[in-house]
Amino acid sequence: MQTAQTLDVLRKQVAKLRADGSTIGLVPTMGALHEGHLTLVRRAREVCDHVVASIFVNPTQFGPNEDLDAYPRQLLEDAEMLEAEGCALLWAPDAAVMYPQGFVTNISVSGVSEWLCGASRPGHFDGVATVVCKLFNQVLPDSALFGEKDFQQLAVIRAMARDLDLVQPHVHSIIGVPTVREADGLAMSSRNRYLSERDRAAAATLPRAMKHAIGQIENGQSAGSVLAAFEDGLLKAGFSSIDYASLVDSASLAPITTLDGPSARLVVAARIGGTRLIDNMAVG
Ligand code: AMP
Repeated sequence: MQTAQTLDVLRKQVAKLRADGSTIGLVPTMGALHEGHLTLVRRAREVCDHVVASIFVNPTQFGPNEDLDAYPRQLLEDAEMLEAEGCALLWAPDAAVMYPQGFVTNISVSGVSEWLCGASRPGHFDGVATVVCKLFNQVLPDSALFGEKDFQQLAVIRAMARDLDLVQPHVHSIIGVPTVREADGLAMSSRNRYLSERDRAAAATLPRAMKHAIGQIENGQSAGSVLAAFEDGLLKAGFSSIDYASLVDSASLAPITTLDGPSARLVVAARIGGTRLIDNMAVG
């Protein structure tokens, strides 16, 4: 596996990979890799000839009081994992390469990025959209793969790619990959390592309570009362606060109250021991 840390090297390496007409799948990450990320790499290998993974802890998607400095960084270990999965190229720029002095552009996706995590993390999705647009233009992949774990992020990226014509010819497809979970159901996340042993055990309540709430909604109980009890249960289990717990339309992420539409999703963001966990599951 090659590693590129400058745009010049990246472009040369990408051109080499493409020289014989091969296709490229891009897997953008912030590193501290786990099985969720590696599943994206494996899927990328299935749909493309070569995989380019990026590792960039993007400062512009962190709020002023968030965990940018504490975010785990382990480039050498990550590179070994990517190589073992057959990744062809690691793109690992630093912030000065991604945002040279004088950088003034911001991509803001209206609507879908404004509520849920967009409301509790102002500016977060502008940071995500801008860096992902740059990654698309830098790598010009045939496919780009993202986890459904970050369901709203996937919706924001799909909207941006559609609106900015990134889908053709450069990015043929944006592929969403189902959430990979720990044995007890907790969605894998680089942030799970922040959890104390006690909070880690309590965190498993989240997917269990979500499944229970989904069963109740599917059985016809009102989403409002089910979600009120759901939030109560999380607080009793040790969560300190709930940013949101909403039944939304899977495409627009707009709130819904009934299961009449084409597809619904339960989306949740909740805090435990200072760590913010997100999760989502299909309903109906
Ligand atoms: P991150 O490094 O957290 O920015 O995540 C990089 C990519 O991996 C994003 O597309 C995430 O949605 C995806 N991802 C993170 N955790 C998981 C998971 N548990 N299952 C599937 N994909 C994931």
